Amino acid sequence: RELPGDPESGRHVRQVHGACHSRVAPTPVRAPRLLAWSAEVAELLGLDEADVLDPRFAEVFGGNALLPGMEPYAACYGGHQFGNWAGQLGDGRAITLGESINPQGQRWELQLKGAGPTPYSRRADGRAVLRSSIREFICSEAMHHLGVPTTRALSLVGTGEQVVRDMFYDGHPRPEPGAVVCRVAPSFIRFGNFEIFASRGEEAVLQQLIDFTIDRDFPELIEAEADPALRRVRWFEEVCTRTAVLMAHWMRVGFVHGVMNTDNMSILGLTIDYGPYGWIDDFDPDWTPNTTDAEGRRYRFGHQPRIAHWNLWQLANAVYPVIQQVEPLERALAMYAEVHEAENRRMMQQKLGLDTWRGGDSGDDALAAELQRLLQVGEVDMTIFFRALSGLDLAQPALAHFDAAFYDEARRAGVAEAFDAWLARYAARAGQEGVPAALRRSRMDAVNPLYVPRNYLAQQAIDRAERGDMGGIADLLDVLRRPYAEQPGREVFAARRPDWARHKAGCSMLSCSS
Ligand code: AMP
Ligand code: MG
Ligand code: MG
Repeated sequence: RELPGDPESGRHVRQVHGACHSRVAPTPVRAPRLLAWSAEVAELLGLDEADVLDPRFAEVFGGNALLPGMEPYAACYGGHQFGNWAGQLGDGRAITLGESINPQGQRWELQLKGAGPTPYSRRADGRAVLRSSIREFICSEAMHHLGVPTTRALSLVGTGEQVVRDMFYDGHPRPEPGAVVCRVAPSFIRFGNFEIFASRGEEAVLQQLIDFTIDRDFPELIEAEADPALRRVRWFEEVCTRTAVLMAHWMRVGFVHGVMNTDNMSILGLTIDYGPYGWIDDFDPDWTPNTTDAEGRRYRFGHQPRIAHWNLWQLANAVYPVIQQVEPLERALAMYAEVHEAENRRMMQQKLGLDTWRGGDSGDDALAAELQRLLQVGEVDMTIFFRALSGLDLAQPALAHFDAAFYDEARRAGVAEAFDAWLARYAARAGQEGVPAALRRSRMDAVNPLYVPRNYLAQQAIDRAERGDMGGIADLLDVLRRPYAEQPGREVFAARRPDWARHKAGCSMLSCSS
């Protein structure tokens, strides 16, 4: 259904029925310039440095040119935003260029974000600002190196154009430089891609999309299950499992997505859509970086696993017309809870460096719960604390070993006694495992990162980039390539958040439109 085109742009924003996507070309930009790129993703795609540095690269990945065979499109999807059905959303500023099969036979979808309006842009401009593009570029690569399932980022291209967003100066909107990120993933299909067809009663398309997704992205299910109806159930179970695993990863590294609407939930269980995300500095399960969510705190750190479950409920409702049985869907949702509990425990066990997990009232669950309480009440840096834990002398556990992790002297004093008691209990417990110290340390250091893209670190790279110096992006990305390894000379990247960054815009608080 075509709505009248915008009189100025002639753009046809519309409700798209009976189709999964709309063809649309990127809108050319004034002066595309390559600002940063990921050598690892380039290699994945079979590109070498010369390919990337060729001026034609910035033309293509800035949206000014297409390579032969590219048939760009924007996807149609809906979504539940902040708990409410929001109707059609779709790729409003993302345009898929096509797929690339690499020399290993892997298939990767290439998608530009910020490449101009699409039929799904509603009233917005289809563009992205440099600062949010840098954040997506850095964080998606960092997540990959941390071992967290995620979409990747190939490149960051400056557009040479200005974009007006939510930055104000003296009450006037302040234009900012625009940019385009090329995101890379096997698929960008979201829960919302299924929800939109269910909501419109378009069950034939819904079934087609489910079967297409299984065929293309879950080939192992084709082999494992010959009956298409049972296979769809297996598929939904697999989505539940992957999502549960993803949540345990987010909790392990201290990542807060910020906008877990169902249109931002990947069907492959990847982290997708880096907007107002944030990283936990002091351990606070109630923290959210998203100013748009400041009141309800729906998407706060500690709530993420429950929100994922709620989102899977919406997906279950959406696929029900095709699966047509309540029971297997309910079983899969129950399975999410079980898998998450198991993964969460495994994650905590690894973070604590325990070989086994002891149940019971005074067992390891209580040990972990008390630690979380102390970290929160004592305002302790999550990353620094867990990293330091591997080096704790189990024969003489002392709180002084964690000095660098405390933000506030008074808070520290308030928990010191209880923390000492916890450390004694922990040291005794860990000692019982009988694992040699060096082995214990290397195992723990492999799950407790030393370097994460703290909000203020990303902001420092952004500040430099806005002054024309892209060195901060490259430096930060380089550190984050080996987040578990000691990198002599780079201690500053592993330090706790400086005081000045605590409440500064961009360093900890961001809005949805960032
Ligand atoms: P998000 O909260 O980033 O997941 O975005 C929600 C919806 O708004 C998606 O359909 C986006 O494509 C769309 N959107 C966000 N920013 C823009 C923009 N600048 N131009 C067009 N659409 C946008
Ligand atoms: Mg989104
Ligand atoms: Mg977004």
